[in-house]
Amino acid sequence: MPDTIAAISTGAVLSGIGVLRLSGPQAIAVVERVFTPAHGAPMSARPDRLLVYGTLHDAAGAVLDICLCTVSRAPHSYTGEDTAELQCHGSPTVLREGLEALFAAGARQALAGEFTKRAFLNGCLDLVQAEAVIDLIHAETAEAARVAAGQLGGAVSRRTDAVYDALAAISAHYHAVIDYPDEDIPDFKIADYARQMRDAEATLAALERSFERGRVLTAGVPTAIVGRPNAGKSSLLNALLGYDRAIVTDVPGTTRDTISEPVRFGGVLLRLTDTAGLRDTADAVEALGVERSREALKRAELIFLLSDATGELTDEDAALLRQAKAAAPTLLLRTKCDLGEVPCALPADLAGTPILPVSSVTMQGFDALEAAVAARYPTDPGAVAGEMLTNARQADAVARARQSVRAALDALECGMPPDAVLTESEAAMAALGELSGRTVREDVTEQIFSRFCVGK
Ligand code: GDP
Repeated sequence: MPDTIAAISTGAVLSGIGVLRLSGPQAIAVVERVFTPAHGAPMSARPDRLLVYGTLHDAAGAVLDICLCTVSRAPHSYTGEDTAELQCHGSPTVLREGLEALFAAGARQALAGEFTKRAFLNGCLDLVQAEAVIDLIHAETAEAARVAAGQLGGAVSRRTDAVYDALAAISAHYHAVIDYPDEDIPDFKIADYARQMRDAEATLAALERSFERGRVLTAGVPTAIVGRPNAGKSSLLNALLGYDRAIVTDVPGTTRDTISEPVRFGGVLLRLTDTAGLRDTADAVEALGVERSREALKRAELIFLLSDATGELTDEDAALLRQAKAAAPTLLLRTKCDLGEVPCALPADLAGTPILPVSSVTMQGFDALEAAVAARYPTDPGAVAGEMLTNARQADAVARARQSVRAALDALECGMPPDAVLTESEAAMAALGELSGRTVREDVTEQIFSRFCVGK
């Protein structure tokens, strides 16, 4: 029998309300030992999901808080087990003491993600939905939250489950044919199976494509802002963020460290890294910053290369631009265009680089910059909100499933023996099983749930 777990679900920070949460066979008995309703029956005699007003007692029995308690019995709860929640005043001290009281009453500390892991193990959520819970908690933009909410609601799972079920039905028939070789598969069945597999392939291909967008919405695009000292990097970062995050001075080399900030821009999440001037330096502290800038360039998937528009493009700018273009797609931003713009002649080998005049003072050119970013990450017009893959594990499983469906379809259409179709069809089902968690390895689930915070 699983034990009963407890945690502070809201985090031990000062807030209006703080939630203590319990799950497990003893959840209601444990909560009853620390919470006394102000009126009427104890919690074990109360209906599910009713908020009950009363007192919370510490481990020694003294009144610790006046709060609300609610219980939900298995299987109709988040974890599928008996659960209880205490809605306390959001004092870290009250929550800590309340948690100690729950431990003294028989619960143990929940591990990171243990509530959601139990929900998964009890079949209340599949693995895509469980990952959506983490994504929802970590969502940094409204779009990322919407995608995660769609996944949590089962948008991806419904699509992949339908493919799985179709393949399972086809596989069952092929098994029968292999077991009873006298039985033939009629032509109309073959045509029907081929159609179903083509549909399955199209569904999986659309999901596979959705990862490109899901990734830029959720994980974001590592974007490096590079340029010579005083090119306007910190000013651009601050202007994009809408507040002063980086120190702006007119002394070259003052951004000594790299700064990475998420910002929603061009319909995606950019993780902007302001870099110290990429130049050789004798100053040890600044040298560290320069080293990190090189690292930022290596990690970048998009680069804003800044050069001061009040002067011509220097040889140093051109050298930086070459370095940047070798690392990732690069936009050349001619900064300070509010002060005037000297025409920018690109050396022949850099021809074709997009050039955008911008001003971090007047925001001139920001719309064009945003459009240029958006154009790099187009939305799929056929995509349905929430039907989107957001991590590499999911994308990899779907890609393998699609490849196996394609191989099964080829085998079917070439008139190969039934076991060839069956092998590929079952390989596709196994890949989809990994996606949903039906057939996933224990170490993979461990890794997924370890990304959670305690209390979820
Ligand atoms: P960094 O060394 O590349 O980070 O450059 P900063 O952002 O610190 O800017 C260097 C100097 O240029 C500062 O004095 C800024 O105020 C100024 N500056 C930066 N961007 C603009 C701009 O768009 N217009 C004007 N007029 N000045 C700017």
